[in-house]
Amino acid sequence: MPESYLNHINGQWVPAVSGQTMDSLNPARTDEIIGIIPRSSTEDVDRAVTAARSAFDRWRLTPAPIRGEILYAAAEVFKREKNRLGRLVTMEMGKVLSEGLGDAQEAIDMAYYMAGEGRRLSGETVHSELRDKDMKSIRVPKGVFGLITPWNFPIAIPAWKVCAALICGNTLVFKPSSYTGVCATEFVRVLIEAGLPPGVPNLVHGTGPEVGTPLVDHPEVDAVSFTGSWVVGSQIEAGLGRNHKEVATEMGGKNAIIVLNDADLDLAVEGAVWGGFGTTGQRCTAASRIVLQAGIHDQFVKAFKAKAAALVLGDGLLPETDVGPLAHWDQLEKVSQYVQVGIKEGATLVLGGKICRDGACATGYFYTPTIFVDVQPQMTIAQEEIFGPVVSVIKVQDLGEAIEVVNGVRYGLSSAIYTRDVNAAATAERDLDTGLVYINASTIGAEIHLPFGGTKATGLGPREAGGRGGSLDHYTKWKVIYRDFSGKLQKAQIDTQKPT
Ligand code: NAD
Repeated sequence: MPESYLNHINGQWVPAVSGQTMDSLNPARTDEIIGIIPRSSTEDVDRAVTAARSAFDRWRLTPAPIRGEILYAAAEVFKREKNRLGRLVTMEMGKVLSEGLGDAQEAIDMAYYMAGEGRRLSGETVHSELRDKDMKSIRVPKGVFGLITPWNFPIAIPAWKVCAALICGNTLVFKPSSYTGVCATEFVRVLIEAGLPPGVPNLVHGTGPEVGTPLVDHPEVDAVSFTGSWVVGSQIEAGLGRNHKEVATEMGGKNAIIVLNDADLDLAVEGAVWGGFGTTGQRCTAASRIVLQAGIHDQFVKAFKAKAAALVLGDGLLPETDVGPLAHWDQLEKVSQYVQVGIKEGATLVLGGKICRDGACATGYFYTPTIFVDVQPQMTIAQEEIFGPVVSVIKVQDLGEAIEVVNGVRYGLSSAIYTRDVNAAATAERDLDTGLVYINASTIGAEIHLPFGGTKATGLGPREAGGRGGSLDHYTKWKVIYRDFSGKLQKAQIDTQKPT
């Protein structure tokens, strides 16, 4: 009998007010229910937001280093639970075990990193124009956050958001993807075990329209952090803008690897296979376009195709598996449709292009690694995010054309270039309009202590993760304090000017 999971509101584990539930399935074995999660609605959201609002003052007044100690304790529990959480990620979302463990590792890294921020949350102290006056800027929390996450990194992305929100002194209502509710619950259990007070983290399970919408629309929610598709994220941006609420969005990508004639081809092929088919192509940074300079095109395609064809599909828990299933049925359907569009628009299918139902694939949502060549930059498969194991190869004549192709999409998350020419690498680094640029490495594999996010339709607002310009800018607002200890009215220069 699968385990039943609950919402977490005001320190209590509770079912949805309606009593309704949803099943979370294993995409590699769709007859296996991983857990039963609540299907919540506006009333549950309301209770959670009320709890977060009541807990806010106490939490914001808890010294940041003490908040950091709780996050440090969470990091230790994540470490203890890493193997269990990693397996769960694989079972609920489908990625192979090494990547499932990586998802859990991100939570460990982020919790330690943000714990340290408890002793660093710094502003500026500068000198005044006047005697006997001092001034500083400090970071203060924004209040109650709504945090909305996708299914593709079911532990890592919640960790990015939750750890940053908490260290800054915010309280929160976390609404995970309904496809990965079990991982989300286990994630929150760790936070509770680490000692977070009631009402500080709240978890409400459910669908986007039934829980996400009332959460972002709730008048007591001060700000929202969203990671997911452009379709949903852009609607949220528009709604919050009208209500004058702050939002940070991290959305889609149409990432590309450039390979120049002088590149180390073996390295580039490896990078393309990993970027294109790692996590079954379901990474916001997946390399779904490979832009090849004409001189190495044929040789590269031959080697790329051979390596991709050798990938073993199957249950991500099995050691021999390279590529797991797509995460759910809609994904399988969407990928199949895009492949048909690619064929119709005249791209040449050289590998895959079908649902896999053989052997280890028979029980789940598997799609064969797929490569198109002769892809024109304006074709649908080269423009839209497919979010599956489908790679489009585009031929170009030179670096300038390659950069134009990479930049010629609405998204701007990640790009990469393989070359031995230092000048070409520097030019690409300067001119690629993406939030992340990799030199001689694939488009995936960001580290948590630098900001993560993209340009154009990929995102709005401060970036995720650490470092200057990272998520602390989203989870705090600035307050400037002027203190005059002269005992008399002193006017700043703005008010004391005489004609010259
Ligand atoms: P999605 O937009 O369908 O769902 C994301 C979350 O939003 C889920 O929790 C969902 O329930 C919720 N939601 C859906 N409709 C909503 C609504 N009307 N109001 C409020 N919330 C709503 O995305 P997904 O399929 O879960 O994830 C895949 C997408 O996420 C891809 O586009 C991928 O590129 C993107 N992604 C981006 C990043 C990044 O950092 N840029 C990282 C991971 C994933």
